[in-house]
Amino acid sequence: MGETVIPLADLRYAGSVPPIPPQPIVPSGLLSDRLGRPLRDLRISVTDRCNFRCSYCMPKSVFDRSYSFLPHASLLTFEEITRLARLFIAHGVGKIRLTGGEPLLRKGIEDLVAMLAELPGPDGRPLEITLTTNGSLLARKAAALKAAGLQRVTVSLDALDDRVFRSMNDMDFPVADVIAGIDAARAAGLAPIKVNMVVQRGVNDHEIVPMAQHFRGTGIVLRFIEYMDVGATNGWRMDQVVPSAQVLQRLQNRWPLESLEPVAPGETAERWRYMDEAGEIGLISSVTKAFCRDCNRARLSTEGKLFMCLFASRGHDLRALLRGGHSDAEIASALALLWGARDDRYSELRGAHQAPPGSGERRVEMHYIGG
Ligand code: SAM
Ligand code: SF4
Ligand code: SF4
Repeated sequence: MGETVIPLADLRYAGSVPPIPPQPIVPSGLLSDRLGRPLRDLRISVTDRCNFRCSYCMPKSVFDRSYSFLPHASLLTFEEITRLARLFIAHGVGKIRLTGGEPLLRKGIEDLVAMLAELPGPDGRPLEITLTTNGSLLARKAAALKAAGLQRVTVSLDALDDRVFRSMNDMDFPVADVIAGIDAARAAGLAPIKVNMVVQRGVNDHEIVPMAQHFRGTGIVLRFIEYMDVGATNGWRMDQVVPSAQVLQRLQNRWPLESLEPVAPGETAERWRYMDEAGEIGLISSVTKAFCRDCNRARLSTEGKLFMCLFASRGHDLRALLRGGHSDAEIASALALLWGARDDRYSELRGAHQAPPGSGERRVEMHYIGG
């Protein structure tokens, strides 16, 4: 890799068609970026559309009737996604998460799951396939997704109070239907189920304890996410963030908890268990306790751009390589070069009060890049 004539600086924020290195780079499953981080986790956004308008992600004022979502022809096809997934696996990816937008809105999503489920994982180990959803269509789709080979789901749910929930999704969608989706996922065996709650001060922080009460003892892991400054449309302010330490304090006032060791390196959530054996919770502290040092995730956007960081401004156009007639060996070599040039650590730099790279540019939106 060191012999390539392409300067690394040109690769990091190139935002265009990735160069093919002059010498092929044969995947060894052991890629390492400039900070020594391996590539293990691929998040794939399968649609930029959503039937919710959560104000922290797709505020209605921006994502209204006049907003142009991507035309179908721009989207990666299932065959293209599967081809890329195979190349990422050769480079060491063992976990694929389907996301969006709302991934269950993508027509035939279970067919994509079935195609991915046929791929062997790295070193012949089974590939982990999971999906993040707002849960609105899960009651209808859980059984088919499981049958296609999906292993688990993460469901986003920000409140149990119906009034608060309807207002947060801004589509007047009832909480009961998401709970029915979680029940269906459980009945289908899509376990262990995780529930993600984005906590916003003054909006839903009064729901922290009721949510914990509801999911304690069910085997479902509730994870509290700090509200992030992702994208450019949500008008994020630091005073809207409830630091995980405060979330933990509120829970500990009610139930004693103790911290647990991470299960896998690069895990985003800090794990805590209830001392009375009622299960565990997770704290995702992307703002107050950045975890860039272990970040082993790449993101593939709906139209096939590769982003090395959730906060990147530009991605690398893999669709152009796929549709430009390049061979698997060439595309795999380009991926190796891109990962080798990666040095992103946006959250860490934000914490250090420095202007993170690319922060002056318009950051990509979460529904497009995939959460
Ligand atoms: N629509 C699906 C859903 O909501 O689960 C998948 C895509 S969504 C972008 C993925 C995750 O990102 C969700 O759990 C959502 O709550 C989270 N998310 C979106 N915007 C966020 C923000 N500004 N800060 C923290 N989490 C956010
Ligand atoms: Fe849709 Fe998920 Fe974004 Fe909410 S968080 S608007 S459900 S993509
Ligand atoms: Fe990874 Fe970027 Fe998030 Fe840091 S800020 S953990 S590098 S995605």
